[in-house]
Amino acid sequence: MAYQIACDVHTHTLFSRHAYSTISENVAVCRERGIELLGSTDHFSEMLFPEQHIRNFQYFQNQDIWPRLWDGVTLLHGAEVDIVSLDGGLFGQDIDVSETIVGNPYREAGSLFDRVTGQLDYLIASVHNGAFTKGAPLARTTSMYVRALENPKVFILGHTGRSGVPFDYDEVLTVAKEKHKLIEINEHSLEVDSRGWFHTVCSRIAQRCAEMGVGIVVSTDAHVAPVIGRFPHAQDMLESIGFPQELIMNRDRATFLGALADADVCNLTELASLSEYTD
Ligand SMILES: [Zn+2]
Ligand SMILES: [Zn+2]
Repeated sequence: MAYQIACDVHTHTLFSRHAYSTISENVAVCRERGIELLGSTDHFSEMLFPEQHIRNFQYFQNQDIWPRLWDGVTLLHGAEVDIVSLDGGLFGQDIDVSETIVGNPYREAGSLFDRVTGQLDYLIASVHNGAFTKGAPLARTTSMYVRALENPKVFILGHTGRSGVPFDYDEVLTVAKEKHKLIEINEHSLEVDSRGWFHTVCSRIAQRCAEMGVGIVVSTDAHVAPVIGRFPHAQDMLESIGFPQELIMNRDRATFLGALADADVCNLTELASLSEYTD
């Protein structure tokens, strides 16, 4: 059985610096492959620039100019934000930004995190450099993921199977379920290591989501347009454990938008009826 997965909600553009396609190229691949909804989620992370200045992140601040329906593909504005501390701190929260990109003072105090993510639809929170978690007890890494999930903008925990940080699955999944937030099953993690450790960990996490009734998203984590919308390794893994289709929250556009609203992250359910033939 092939699962229906009609949204790709973790993808990167050239902005991420080690990714290679434009937003327009990503949209074109979605259209070609019948992907109804694209979530563009570039890295919001220390790894991008040596200087953590608002000017380096203005790419995120002007996405309102993107059409919500671009060549028939519904487009969401997101970011993949780094989890940077055992307290579940997110990149940019401890960096104050008092001036706009043109050097005018902001009226109110705010962090780089606030300035950059304020207008985005949702965040994926991921660990990329887990050095700060080394030697931490399981209770700390577990509460790290719980705290990250509690951030009102965070909708998805990204590639927990590949990040290499052990945590108590049941505790994190219980919070995800309560808050209607989602656990990512990441095609790229399975592709780079289809029979190895990532596969084992990812399938254990998926299995537990199935048993506990926790919603997941299956995403490519594409860093180049041609891989968008294809999930063969994730499809195989989910099939091998009999994962229920109804817990795949990106199976179609209306389901994903409904899930975003259920989690109180943002209500864009009106986009479910957008059609290029009616506007
Ligand atoms: Zn990346
Ligand atoms: Zn990532």
